[in-house]
Amino acid sequence: MESKKRTLIRETPDCMGETVRLQGWVDIRRDHGKLVFIDLRDRTGEVQLIILPDNPGAIEAAKDVRSEFLIEVDGLVKERPAKMQNDAVKTGGVEIEVVELRIIAKPETELPIDVSQTDLGVNLDTLLNNRTIALRNVKVRAVFSIYSEVLRSYDEAMRAGEFVEIKTPKILGSATEGGANFFKIKYFDRDAFLAQSPQFYKQAGMSAFERVFEIGTVFRAEPHFTTRHVNEYTGLDAEMGFIDGVTDVMDELERTMKHIFRNVGISCEAELSLYGEAVPGDVEIPRIRLSDAEDILRKEYGKELENHDIDSEGERMICEYVKKEYGSDLVFLTHYPTSLRPFYSMPSPDDALTTETFDLLFRGVEIASGGQRIHDAEMLTGNIRKFGLDPSDFSDYIDIFRYGAPPHGGWGLGSERIVQKMLTLGSIKEAVLYPRDVKRLAP
Ligand code: ATP
Ligand code: MG
Repeated sequence: MESKKRTLIRETPDCMGETVRLQGWVDIRRDHGKLVFIDLRDRTGEVQLIILPDNPGAIEAAKDVRSEFLIEVDGLVKERPAKMQNDAVKTGGVEIEVVELRIIAKPETELPIDVSQTDLGVNLDTLLNNRTIALRNVKVRAVFSIYSEVLRSYDEAMRAGEFVEIKTPKILGSATEGGANFFKIKYFDRDAFLAQSPQFYKQAGMSAFERVFEIGTVFRAEPHFTTRHVNEYTGLDAEMGFIDGVTDVMDELERTMKHIFRNVGISCEAELSLYGEAVPGDVEIPRIRLSDAEDILRKEYGKELENHDIDSEGERMICEYVKKEYGSDLVFLTHYPTSLRPFYSMPSPDDALTTETFDLLFRGVEIASGGQRIHDAEMLTGNIRKFGLDPSDFSDYIDIFRYGAPPHGGWGLGSERIVQKMLTLGSIKEAVLYPRDVKRLAP
């Protein structure tokens, strides 16, 4: 076989009248009398192959070809008869008359799910049990194409804002932040813990670089059974110094979200349309004090909050309200009570019971938490005590501030929730490649 360069399906319209070599997966094979049609897909699109009866070699080679065979064909690029064109095939204006067909690889047995359907039509467990195969499906792949664009756009927005990318350790010697949501692991002859946030390290990075960001794994040991939690997710974190206040942090996060949405809207139009979704419009994100949100929920929905804390139902309602009143799919809730925020949160200057913090909600769900942090060592030590914790457990952390640090703040943003809400996926697990939950550790 002479060596010939592979042509991508996307390129075929520019090769009219030429013989090209294509490689890819068989989406579907159809026999019409003596004609064989194959929809072939590669990473760039899909095209129809046709094998004519006067090519017995190709007919014979294609004899066993079924869905999800990997094949290579040499074929003539021809204009596709207009009446045959349909939108199911991306390069609908082109068809390939097969000259030679070779099988590269084939499934040993029938695939456990039919990935050629646009909608897989399987339940979440079946989808996740067969994750690797399911990824061949066009709508499943769309999720992760969009996810890839979210990660790239976050990176791009951060760099445009002169944030330096850091990677912080995920194996920790102690369970800081006092939470119970740490996974304990064996570390040689002692115990260690998996990081449930890069919080302290990103503040340390900020104290030298001014602005840092991290795209990193976050482990949460909470036994959740919800549609928005997994036990391992990818956090999009940032921390920035020399701020005038928490408003600067929200401005930066708003700029970042808009950059992500704009990019996904442009680069992933086809993927979004498979879900009938569009990215949020470029509207200013309203900022509402949590206490005002509480009033709105009471007045508009007759809903009372417990301990002034907003639950997931309240988050849904306030998003509905904001959409109606401001046309925004996102909202910042600000000034959470001190009792609901970590000890390092900056108290509001005018009210010691609230903090300079925020959550960002998107289509009914929290996607980020952030705020201004305490940068004064003494104040921080006092707050650690107030929270019933022992400052000596936090000496490395307090040291960041003992040597001087600027006013600063940042956020933790959940990457998977962005995609989940963008596509209105029933569960966050659909937006995680291989999700880990209380029950699931495989595949
Ligand atoms: P929630 O209240 O929804 O449980 P949280 O307030 O505990 O979230 P944070 O510690 O504020 O979460 O984490 C920052 C962001 O990381 C969240 O806004 C969310 O987008 C994401 N996130 C947090 N926990 C999870 C999880 N278990 N699975 C997926 N994403 C998560
Ligand atoms: Mg939060």
